[in-house]
Amino acid sequence: MSGKYIPWAEPYKIKVVEPLKMTTLEERKHAIKEAGFNTFLLRSEDVYIDFLTDSGTNAMSDAQWAGMMMGDEAYAGSKNFYRLEAAVQKYYGYKYLVPTHQGRGAEHLLSQAMIKPGDYVPGNMYFTTTRFHQEKAGATFVDVIIDEAHDSQSLHPFKGNIDLQKFEDLINRVGADKIPYICLAVTVNMAGGQPVSMENMKQVKALADKHGIKVMLDATRGVENAYFIQQREEGYANKSVAEILLEMASYTDGATMSGKKDLLVNIGGFVAVNDWDIFEELRNMVVVYEGLHTYGGLAGRDMEAMAIGLEESVQDQNISSRVRQVEYLGKLLEKADIPFIKPVGGHAIFLDAKRFYPQIPQEEYPAQTLAADLYVESGVRAMERGIVSAGRDVKTGENHKPKLELVRLTIPRRVYTQAHFDVVAYWVEELYHHREKAKGLKMVYEPKYLRFFQARFERL
Ligand SMILES: *Cc1c(COP(=O)(O)O)cnc(C)c1O
Repeated sequence: MSGKYIPWAEPYKIKVVEPLKMTTLEERKHAIKEAGFNTFLLRSEDVYIDFLTDSGTNAMSDAQWAGMMMGDEAYAGSKNFYRLEAAVQKYYGYKYLVPTHQGRGAEHLLSQAMIKPGDYVPGNMYFTTTRFHQEKAGATFVDVIIDEAHDSQSLHPFKGNIDLQKFEDLINRVGADKIPYICLAVTVNMAGGQPVSMENMKQVKALADKHGIKVMLDATRGVENAYFIQQREEGYANKSVAEILLEMASYTDGATMSGKKDLLVNIGGFVAVNDWDIFEELRNMVVVYEGLHTYGGLAGRDMEAMAIGLEESVQDQNISSRVRQVEYLGKLLEKADIPFIKPVGGHAIFLDAKRFYPQIPQEEYPAQTLAADLYVESGVRAMERGIVSAGRDVKTGENHKPKLELVRLTIPRRVYTQAHFDVVAYWVEELYHHREKAKGLKMVYEPKYLRFFQARFERL
């Protein structure tokens, strides 16, 4: 691009502030030890800038807060449900909606409704809770993402794409009747927030249709994916993010959603489908696990805030500033030669712990160590995405050994300003300067499920 750089700014101003607490180095050393070197076990009041997750950490708009007052807390048939249903139909195009308390509630229902023991569920990499529910329902998860996704140095613009050959090989190996659906995640969180192209979605749908396999979208970060399509894929530059999102969803048969991400709320989710029979099963099951099918574990006010957030989320200026904040941090780290995953994804910067701490072998948890060290250095909280998050094989009990050992600096939506990013980049660089001093960790407590949330470590 030629021409001069035109500055941009967040498309909102601040109305309410929440003071941040600074801590001393001594306090942080104590806090991380107490937390078993697991940033999930820190108290949030001991954190300065919190990049643990962008899940439910969004700042709501004045319109959303006003909507909270419009909660219709009827047990059945709340008007907020109908408002949410209309918003999902309009922007995602699915016919039937079942609200859930958050994304994993939706994943649980969908997995139980569609999977039989012995089935296979292919997916473009996995998300922790998504794969867990698929396996719990008796399926074997099969990764069918393109190889580039596992390469932290590949600059492929759509690193989240499904490898059609891998998908077809699985169909030939196990038979289409053993594959209830393919789980299509957009963007791919575990690959670094990497998008999937529209072209790829079209092809996946065509192949799946040929074999009678459904395509289920993990729509949690679909708006971010739509933005990348607008920016990178030929033919979409002049389309709105809302139009692109609707087209994306049109190549799928349903979706699970964590409203805590794209939809700009602190709690909420849903599962939506086009197929009446699947809907019937979901609507029946939600009563047992979440609540009546017109509230699904949410208060009326939560559904209202989510309906309004959904509409705000698809506005081009909302999503462009969201992704540009992430890119801003990426540029600062790039200037300092910090190793991280490129291209920068939609919601986070993923530091490459293998290259940051090459002296720490994977068995000594380089990414877990880096997240702990960054907290001690600066009070900035990030999280591990590596061997701890990958967990163990359900059959053999062996550790999954992912190629990527990452530390995720996750940007909450509409919460921090560019000055915060300057501070974070500064401290990451400081840590990088004395990286050779770092020593790994050993795990001293391992929970049975989703161990990364609660595992405890000691310094070697
Ligand atoms: C967060 C997330 C989920 C799970 O949603 P929760 O609301 O945390 O239960 C599923 N898929 C993706 C891609 C996510 O980012």
